[in-house]
Amino acid sequence: MEKGRIIILSAPSGTGKSTIISHLMNIPELKLGFSVSATSRPPRGSERDGCEYYFLSPEEFRRKADNNEFVEWEEVYPGTCYGTLESEVERVTGSGRNLIMDIDVKGALNVKKRFGDKALSIFIVPPSIEELEARLRNRSTDSEESIRRRLEKAEYELSFADKFDRRVINDSLDEAVNEVGGLIKSFMA
Ligand code: 5GP
Repeated sequence: MEKGRIIILSAPSGTGKSTIISHLMNIPELKLGFSVSATSRPPRGSERDGCEYYFLSPEEFRRKADNNEFVEWEEVYPGTCYGTLESEVERVTGSGRNLIMDIDVKGALNVKKRFGDKALSIFIVPPSIEELEARLRNRSTDSEESIRRRLEKAEYELSFADKFDRRVINDSLDEAVNEVGGLIKSFMA
């Protein structure tokens, strides 16, 4: 069976990337399979192991990293690591589906470098930093300290936008979903 392609989506947190991804997953012709990353942070809210993430203890995460089981991993926030397991890429692309990854900017650029033309990297841009701050506050799962850290990181991440294959502004959700869906279709053609 023809192996699936790799779609990498990256954006500052609060940009609406996860919502865009869940809408894209409902478009059957895109044949997407979500890449469930591993993380060393504990579950938030209603998150379940194996759905949003594989939740590993910091020790388990380290052991897998030492064992070269990750395609890439990053310490995205101080003390908190996230990574894509080789076994996850195989699980999804091996079944002929296109793997959609929601990963941080550095991880995205590393995956693009590794998979080259087999991968499409897309950066989702918030309409403005002010709008991003408002969205993070509305989400209300994060502490003030965490919001401040995410905003600082957002400004840093935005400086990498032009290193991606494509950029999409998430002003209106429907338009952003259409635009990203269109990019994925042309990439698959
Ligand atoms: P959160 O804790 O809000 O779910 O995610 C925090 C950040 O980790 C997001 O920017 C997300 O894109 C990033 N992330 C999630 N999975 C991975 C991964 O497998 N690798 C890398 N490098 N970053 C990831």
